[in-house]
Amino acid sequence: MKTRAAILEELGKPLKIEEIEIPELKSGQVLVDIAYSGVCHTQVLEARGYRGEDKFLPHCLGHEGSGIVREIGPDVEKVKNGDKVILSWMQGHGINVPGTVYKRGNDNINSGGITTFSKQSVISENRLTVIPKDSKISLKDASMLGCALPTGIGAVKNVAKPKKGQSIAIFGAGGIGLCAIMGAKIEECNPIIAIDIIDKKLEESKAIGATHTINATSKDPVKELKNICPNGIDFAIESSGITKVMKQALESVKMRGGKAIVVGNAHHGETLNLDPHQFNLGKSILGTWGGDNDPDEDFSKYIEFVTSGKIELSNFTSKVYDLENINKALDDLENGKVLRPLIDMKLKVD
Ligand SMILES: [Zn+2]
Repeated sequence: MKTRAAILEELGKPLKIEEIEIPELKSGQVLVDIAYSGVCHTQVLEARGYRGEDKFLPHCLGHEGSGIVREIGPDVEKVKNGDKVILSWMQGHGINVPGTVYKRGNDNINSGGITTFSKQSVISENRLTVIPKDSKISLKDASMLGCALPTGIGAVKNVAKPKKGQSIAIFGAGGIGLCAIMGAKIEECNPIIAIDIIDKKLEESKAIGATHTINATSKDPVKELKNICPNGIDFAIESSGITKVMKQALESVKMRGGKAIVVGNAHHGETLNLDPHQFNLGKSILGTWGGDNDPDEDFSKYIEFVTSGKIELSNFTSKVYDLENINKALDDLENGKVLRPLIDMKLKVD
């Protein structure tokens, strides 16, 4: 059986949309009809070569989405045919299978334990989370729960763990930053300060829960944050991936207990220079593995946040593209024209 996929053939070149042959399923593998795939900055970094050398070329891409299970391989117990599922690079329970290899003519096309830039995909059991049958969440909304939303909300809920009324600054108001703002609102942080260089993103931040915004092109965010919270803020979430901003995040948190959490991905080879005195002031800088989620525990809570209206995803699923236009989606994301592109695989759902 064949499917259509976007393939990264050469770094820095557009993806090629081509037919590939789906191999027979091995133990722990699941064939999924993809409904929607998210496009995130990780794929921009990969496709452009910002992550350095890529020894897996040519390969498939994409690591968040939604779909319907079409066929299960041997030993799979977590899902069955017809289940609606969230697809995520985050590992839950179930068998972990390294990437599959597709065929294009005689060529091998590599793939990770999950890829989603295709009409169908062979995915490792542990990257799937079943959407409960009675849930009202749409497959379009569910596709957002595999990367940006759990990363942004998890960075607040699972890593910062704020108490009600604590202050938080979100550096970078892209897909993950906006999700962090929504997470901060759910945790009842106050104030919630969004920092970005694009006014439109700051307006969106206000619409979903930021109490203050700072445009870092016209104002020094560290100074501005001091005006809003003279003793320093409790938490800073950094989602821009810019090392200078990571430094600002640490500088802006309060002495004795302030925490800066780095979520953004810097380009390969960049290093972060910090004034070590910041640590003597009792501040910490923390990393996170995509918001430290346990998909089997946390994703059902996120589904609930969406269906109960605590999270309004329509605020930022700003543009939907066809698979054939996936290169436009990557360009638009890279150029800040769209917050979170979604690829509609045109799956017919009964
Ligand atoms: Zn992602």
